[in-house]
Formats: sequence, C-alpha cells, structure tokens
Amino acid sequence: MRFNGLVAGLALMMCAASVAAQKQIVIAASTVFDGKGGVVHNTRIVVEGSKIIRIDSKAGPVDYDLRGLTVLPGWIDSHVHITWSFGPDGKNAGAAISSEYFAKAAAANAKITLLAGFTTVQSVGSPNDLPLRDLIAKGTLPGPRILTSLEPLMGRGDQTGTPDEIRAFVRKQKEAGADLIKIFAAGSVRRPQMLLSQEQLTAACDEAKKLGLRTLVHAYKDAVGAAARAGCTQIEHGTLASDDDLKLLVQKGVWLDPQAGLVMENYLINKEQFLGTPGFPEEAFKTIKEIIPFYHDFMKQAIKVPGLKIVFGSDALAGSHGRNAEELIDRVRDGGVDPMAAMVSANSLAAEALGMSNQIGSIAPGLQADIIALDGDPLKDITAVRRVVFVMKGGVVYKNDRR
Ligand SMILES: [Zn+2]
Repeated sequence: MRFNGLVAGLALMMCAASVAAQKQIVIAASTVFDGKGGVVHNTRIVVEGSKIIRIDSKAGPVDYDLRGLTVLPGWIDSHVHITWSFGPDGKNAGAAISSEYFAKAAAANAKITLLAGFTTVQSVGSPNDLPLRDLIAKGTLPGPRILTSLEPLMGRGDQTGTPDEIRAFVRKQKEAGADLIKIFAAGSVRRPQMLLSQEQLTAACDEAKKLGLRTLVHAYKDAVGAAARAGCTQIEHGTLASDDDLKLLVQKGVWLDPQAGLVMENYLINKEQFLGTPGFPEEAFKTIKEIIPFYHDFMKQAIKVPGLKIVFGSDALAGSHGRNAEELIDRVRDGGVDPMAAMVSANSLAAEALGMSNQIGSIAPGLQADIIALDGDPLKDITAVRRVVFVMKGGVVYKNDRR
C-alpha cells in the first residue's frame, strides 16, 4: 500500500513535471518585425521552453500583452568587448585585467547589455570572456549569449611569427574554447598600415577555416582587400577601403562590420576616464573628433555597394555597454542606412554572419525565443531603439516594464 502510494505520488510528480515542461507562453503583439525585413500585424507568438513553437493569431490565453509596441527578435551585436571596464579609480582599464572587481564589472556589463535588448553578442579580444560566457550559458548570470575569440592574434609584423607559428596560435585558441578568431591586421584610421603580411594573414584565416572557426579581421585601407584575398570571414571597421576593395568583399562573400559613431562618441563622452590611459593622450581626442566624419562617409560608401553584406557591430567597450543601440541610431541618422536594413543587420543578417540562422535572429517556429519590444516604431523614429521595455532570452523574461 505504502509502495503503491509512493508509485502514485511519483507518477503525479512526473505528470506535473511534464505539464510544466509543456507550459506555453503566449505573447500578443500588434506589430512584429520578423527579423528578415517583414512585418506581421495582430498576431500571437507561442513559446514553449526556450523556443518559439508557432505564430498563431488565435493562441491564448495571453501571458504578455505587447500590443502597441514594436516586437522584434533580440538584437545581435557582432562586435563588443564585454569585459572592458573602468577601474576602481574610474579610469579606462582595458579588457584584459582579471580580478574580483573586474569579474563583477564584466557581469554588470553583460546584464545591462541584455536589458538593452541584446540577447547575443560576439566578444572580440579577451581571454577573460570565457568564465562569463559559460556562467551565462548555464543560467547562473543574466546576460546575452556570448561568443568569444579569447586572445586575439595581434599583428606585429615579422614578430607575429612564421605562418606555422601563426597556425599554432590559432589552434591554441580553438583548444582553449574560442568560438572564432580575432585578428588585428592593421593599425588605426590614423596609421592604417598593415601589421601582417599577406602570407601571415592567409595562414591565420586558412587554419581557422580548417578548424571550422570564423575569422574577424580588424582592418583599414589595404588590409581590407588583403583579408578578403586571405579567405577571412569578416572585416571589422574597414575605413579607408576603396570601392574596389569593397567589391572584392562582395565577390568573396566577406562580411563587413563598419561603425558609424558610438565607439568614437563614447571616447569623447567619457574623455576624463580615457585621458592618460594607454592610447589616449590629450591629442587623441582632437583626432577622434576629426575622424568621426570619416566613419559616417565610409558607412555611406559601403551601403552603395550592391550585394555587400553589412552586419551590425557596435564595438561596445567601457562606457558604452548597454548603449549598443546608439550605434543603430548613428547608422540611420549619420550613415544613411535605411531603418529596416539597420534592424535586419542586427537580426537575421547578424545571425547568418555568426552561422546561427537556424537558432537566432528571426521570429519563427523552432528558433530561440529571443524576443524584445520597443516603445515606438524605429522605422518612423530610430530613437525608439533606446526604449526597450521587454526582453525575453531563450524563453526567460528578463525585463517587462509594460505591466
Ligand atoms: Zn573592438
């Protein structure tokens, strides 16, 4: 009898568990951007577990009523430095410092990034990303899904190493758990000279490709074409590239991630915190002000090239975490980008660039339930991207200010 009772109790518990697993969440929306440029009106999104299972205007009862808002897939930022923070003295400390203080600062960066509507980010350039990525993936910390390059390959001319040594460096990152390889192939806009030879660049990108890893190349001017010829996956920044270089990117299917302002504006807004830290003498700020128009012009140049795949990346770092969407505003307001194209560049296009189209970047059955809502219509007023009032990542609601 007791045994039977136990079995019955167990069966009840199992039944309750399966009911819990099958609990559906229904989101009502009057305007849904599908992430690919399409708009659906007056529908409901049905979520089960971590995924969207169907779009069904008759589904109910409604758990979250997001009518009157713009509902879209969680944004993807292809270029952030999630651990880069200001130190206890308020000064720029870079991305590579490891201590309890910086671990907490990085966790805070991740949280505000998620609450700003970014459900996936690609962090390019610090081994400290690894514990943060893994703790978020386990659900221990709130934050966006993180892909990381771990340690980047810093171009230093001959000192970078022989092609074989560069291949070994790439393999080392893969073994350490890198999701992609970041390569610094050029200096800065002011000093755009190549820091890697064509042979070195080819070794890095070819070895990564053999390992199934994408390569993101920090490049300006001549390094843009060189990276395309080397078979690399994506160009970061790209400023000073010629039209012929950009056409080569189209031919080779290489992605371009140019910035239209946030990263430079952030240095100016937070000047006191950056001033005097490595790379930021007083003169640097005058230069930064002068090069912002180059960034705007390069965005305008890039969007005119037919077939060029322009992806969203903000280069968020200390001072701009959680303000990633300002770069969307800059692209539209100052770079001439069409508002829907800007949205798609941070949704399905970014997912495609990450090789994750079957998981994120669209609102469609079978995809992760990464769903955000804006108070406003970004097609009419791009500053609506500042007003993220609802954030769901993988079926879990992290923000719901529309109560
Ligand atoms: Zn960067």
